[in-house]
Amino acid sequence: MKLILFGMPGVGKGTQAKILAQKHGAVHISTGDMLRANIQNGTPLGTMAKGYMDKGELVPDNLIIAMIEEVLSSAKAKKGYVLDGFPRTVAQAEALETILWRANVPIDKAINIVVDEEEVVRRLSGRMTCPNCGAIYHKYNQPPKVENTCDSCGHIGLIQRDDDKEETVRHRLEVYHKNTEPVLQFYRNKGAIVDVDGGKSVEEVTASIERLLENARA
Ligand code: AMP
Repeated sequence: MKLILFGMPGVGKGTQAKILAQKHGAVHISTGDMLRANIQNGTPLGTMAKGYMDKGELVPDNLIIAMIEEVLSSAKAKKGYVLDGFPRTVAQAEALETILWRANVPIDKAINIVVDEEEVVRRLSGRMTCPNCGAIYHKYNQPPKVENTCDSCGHIGLIQRDDDKEETVRHRLEVYHKNTEPVLQFYRNKGAIVDVDGGKSVEEVTASIERLLENARA
């Protein structure tokens, strides 16, 4: 499985990417998770990225492209990957073409998960994340089995990301319209993207994506 998941912040890319990567033995490559891990580990990249992320701005392309090139050129990406949150600018999409060509791991499909914008704001402002393993929950839609405790790793103390506060969410959506919508057009022009309704349950959205992948293989 070699897949790119697109969609506004909060449409469920991270949740779907984790499920699909696990099911199909692919690597889940989330640039947001990688940046947050760099911040947590106090790396120079993390220090540079934090200011942009806290404001809901995009981290400069050169930093992101160098980070993604390393992981996509690794042996594990050969078995399959699910890209989540990358590419977010046309410059990143162009760089990705070169990286995939060089590493000889072309994409099978690009999928755009579509959700109404106000629903996205509601989802993000209720999103809770496990700071230990990155598992994602929602206060109302998808709470953990035991309050404030991660189902996956048992960590106690789920957090709201700073950039999931409503004002920052609205700014992230503006950034999405300005920078990332042109990327969708880039893939549409190549006939390489399919829309999926992300307003359904997590299981239904996974099933829709898998059906599309099967059709693409048939
Ligand atoms: P995410 O977890 O994908 O919503 O990303 C959180 C934040 O990380 C974004 O708001 C950006 O500040 C930064 N980020 C993640 N991926 C990228 C990317 N591909 N290009 C630039 N900035 C990114």
